[in-house]
Amino acid sequence: MIGKLDGKVPPGPLEQKWRNHKNNSRLVSPNNRRKFEIIVVGSGLAGGSAAATLGELGYRVKCFCYQDSPRRAHSIAAQGGINAAKNYQNDGDSVFRLFYDTIKGGDFRSREANVYRLAEVSNLIIDQCTEQGVPFAREYGGLLANRSFGGAQVSRTFYARGQTGQQLLLGAYQALCRQIALGTVKMFSQTEMLDLVLVDGHAKGIIARNLYTGEINAFAGDAVVLATGGYGNVFFLSTNARGCNVTATYRAYKRGALFGNPCFTQIHPTCIPVTGQHQSKLTLMSESLRNDGRVWVPRRAEDCAKPPKDIPDPDRDYYLERKYPSFGNLAPRDIASRAAKEVCDEGRGVGPGGRGVYLDFADAISRLGEDFIRERYGNLFDIYQKITAEDAYKTPMRIYPAVHYTMGGLWVDYNLMSNIPGLHVIGEANFADHGANRLGASALMQGLADGYFVLPYTLPNYLAGQIGKRPSTDHAEFKRVESEVRARVKKLLEVNGDQTLTSFHRELGLLLWDKCGMARSAAGLREALGKIPELRDEFWKKVRVPGEGESYNQSLERAGRIADFLEFAELMCIDALERDESCGGHFREEHQTPDGEAQRDDENFAAVFAWEFQGNGKVEHPKLHREPLHFEAVHLTQRSYK
Ligand SMILES: Cc1cc2nc3c(=O)[nH]c(=O)nc-3n(C[C@H](O)[C@H](O)[C@H](O)COP(=O)(O)OP(=O)(O)OC[C@H]3O[C@@H](n4cnc5c(N)ncnc54)[C@H](O)[C@@H]3O)c2cc1C
Repeated sequence: MIGKLDGKVPPGPLEQKWRNHKNNSRLVSPNNRRKFEIIVVGSGLAGGSAAATLGELGYRVKCFCYQDSPRRAHSIAAQGGINAAKNYQNDGDSVFRLFYDTIKGGDFRSREANVYRLAEVSNLIIDQCTEQGVPFAREYGGLLANRSFGGAQVSRTFYARGQTGQQLLLGAYQALCRQIALGTVKMFSQTEMLDLVLVDGHAKGIIARNLYTGEINAFAGDAVVLATGGYGNVFFLSTNARGCNVTATYRAYKRGALFGNPCFTQIHPTCIPVTGQHQSKLTLMSESLRNDGRVWVPRRAEDCAKPPKDIPDPDRDYYLERKYPSFGNLAPRDIASRAAKEVCDEGRGVGPGGRGVYLDFADAISRLGEDFIRERYGNLFDIYQKITAEDAYKTPMRIYPAVHYTMGGLWVDYNLMSNIPGLHVIGEANFADHGANRLGASALMQGLADGYFVLPYTLPNYLAGQIGKRPSTDHAEFKRVESEVRARVKKLLEVNGDQTLTSFHRELGLLLWDKCGMARSAAGLREALGKIPELRDEFWKKVRVPGEGESYNQSLERAGRIADFLEFAELMCIDALERDESCGGHFREEHQTPDGEAQRDDENFAAVFAWEFQGNGKVEHPKLHREPLHFEAVHLTQRSYK
């Protein structure tokens, strides 16, 4: 039974909470650290940085990922940059401003103390990564360069061309490799966690399948850290890497971990539009492009079919600049996405199906020169050309919103520990510091903050009382959970129907996009809640999973992940229905301001929604727990970027 949800926010003034908490946290002495084994699932920026740091501290770490190398984690795809409050530009930035922008950007649906801590440690991340040799862009004088991202009026985004995630991941990976070589970290690549093992109510291990051989094994630890990323692929089409999934966090949820704000999804405004059924993923055009690109559509619907060069300036609607003069093209993602949908709904969208808007660099090129734009964004223009066969130096890009990031995730307290003792959750996998809408360049900041600078301090608060309590994998609970995992794998292979995995995944994704995507309504969500269980039943009767369990079988891997999506989608819709307000990316059509912005209801919904699994093996209506959000340093206002 879960009582009152306690976020364990330390007392004291906001700016002293983290320092005091560190001073009051428990310690594990160097001699004892090597007695602890920590399981870290995930080796992207969050998991890789955590595993490397814990290894460096002297803990013994077992680190898992399903890719063939930690270097292939989805984090590698991050393009635009990472925020920090260094104020190198001298443009008025500060820790408080980064904190304020992030909490306002999230539409006041995140925990104040966590967000302040994030802003506070942001500067340490830049120092750490620079020391590692991450090649951040630099100004002429040698200082690290910055650019602007949405929802901020200062330039605080550090970047390495359009490959920031890749460069940061190489930094974390080399730190991880050092530990692997030293023997403190043992790396299990191509190994997928399929369940969590609890012993006496504490997270003490996992069951994982070797994806290469099909072997299923149990692993015991003193604590488990999940750093398994986001679940945007529940929508089938998203900008996420194809492998991103919800399995680790969802199966932990089924073992009792609370899932926080599962419906909070980020739709990114600048992606290459959908072109047809053949696509299995969508491609992001980084938000950084909005530093120099201007977003527009024709003023009149009848001009939409004309080539953009034939539409003169007075006939163009630079709608973001018109609606949000202070932030213009750098309005936050939720707002820019909705504005794009609105103009397309009015019939003013461009390109096939009218689901596109222009992102135009003509002004920037005439002001700064093509070489300058190439230097800044060259690889993004190349990606765009490869996919669309169009030259964005000569004609505007066409973009449209797409699913990009999930703010929901397992609920954690200030120590990043879930309600299950010992189970810690970091990076995109936790319900996070981003509230109902994440600002650009803040996911990398959060993942690395959690892994390098928060978890290493907070984990000992749990570990200090756990010396000598690691169970053996011979324990009955390991045997029980392992046999459940084996049975599930067998069941998937035995359906032996005639429908493809993709057909189920696509149908689920389209339904979610339609009913629980950029706009949601009670009627639509109820409709989805009626259809999802039907689709799930059909899956278990008709899906075909070729191959066998005891060998490399990518269909089997996908089948397990899609089966979890088919349950998890229901939780998302339940959450979206229960949150009867609009906030950030959660736009309930019933709740909008007269000018079409999200209308919050602070009196009833200033809370984290944390859901507890109720089914005893079945998917039943989960139980809602609320963590009220208290704001001491910020004043709740209607977000305005005008
Ligand atoms: C195209 C794109 C561009 C982006 N650009 C930016 C940007 O410029 N700035 C920014 O701040 N953010 C950006 N983001 C968001 C950011 O990249 C992610 O939020 C962040 O990288 C997530 O890091 P992570 O470590 O939490 O998860 P991931 O990098 O997704 O890593 C997850 C890890 O968990 C492992 N894993 C998952 N499930 C299992 C399992 N069951 N068993 C074993 N291992 C498992 C995976 O193998 C992997 O190692 C972008 C996102 C996308 C899609």
